Amino acid sequence: MLNGKTIYHSMIESAILSGCSIWTLTKSNIALMKSIQYRAAQAVLQLKCKPTRPALLGDLGWTPIDLTIEKRQIAYFKYLKFDLAHSSLPHKVLTHLIKQHSEGNEAPWKYVSNIKSILIKRGLDDVLFRDDCEWYNTYEGICRQERTTNFIDDISHFKSLNTYSTFKNHPYQENYLKQDFDFYGSRLKFLARTNNFCLESNYSVWGKSDGKCKLCSLNVHEDLQHRLLLCEHFKEERESFFHTVCKQCPSDLFSDFIKGNLTEKLTFILGDETFSKWGQDYFRLFDSIVKSFLTQVYKPRDLCL
Ligand SMILES: [Zn+2]
Repeated sequence: MLNGKTIYHSMIESAILSGCSIWTLTKSNIALMKSIQYRAAQAVLQLKCKPTRPALLGDLGWTPIDLTIEKRQIAYFKYLKFDLAHSSLPHKVLTHLIKQHSEGNEAPWKYVSNIKSILIKRGLDDVLFRDDCEWYNTYEGICRQERTTNFIDDISHFKSLNTYSTFKNHPYQENYLKQDFDFYGSRLKFLARTNNFCLESNYSVWGKSDGKCKLCSLNVHEDLQHRLLLCEHFKEERESFFHTVCKQCPSDLFSDFIKGNLTEKLTFILGDETFSKWGQDYFRLFDSIVKSFLTQVYKPRDLCL
């Protein structure tokens, strides 16, 4: 998986962004870039299903490609205007383009308008013509904040991500994907987190099920909470999971986990709480136990992944 991410960043992303600093993109160009990035993310996790885009990029920690392009464009504009010698040809060309724009006589290549619109989107309406670049740090700060705000806003629009939004509140790479020794378990954890665990509730969305669990006699809706914490069919696996956590993890970690209600347990299993409270080593231990449990209870009806 790490190799896949390296290939994306070093080859695919750098190839599709080659020359992007001076592009003026159309909506269809941006849609194409987004599609390429989405398919690359699917390939890295070897997915055939179609998880929601914000969750897919969010767990991998990839910046949305449109935001990356705009950041590169502003960085290059700053370079042309402030870092290059005033006697250099690129600086002179930029100065000419800005002059033309300010006179309402912009060339067919709308480079300055594009830069201006990117800055205006971030509330930096007046900085294009300034002789200093003190605004650049502000721009970068706004972009960082925007990435997080957009991510939270994007996932809130998907009903399927209701549970996901309870344990994911940032757009940066998840710790469970930083483990390189259990790719299959990492992949299952991604599917569980993003509501793609091949449950009857998933099949019902596709019109292939009434949504009720077919593995036990409870005759109830099969969602992730049912599969992981309630279904009688997986009683043995669940008890073994709890027992392993009790035996191998610190007692206060197990205590925190076991005393939680169903929602809290699910958040504990799929979220990052162990990392922030008990540190990397115990997170890795708990994470590996969770992945092993997920492998045991993952029973797709057919090859949907
Ligand atoms: Zn069941």
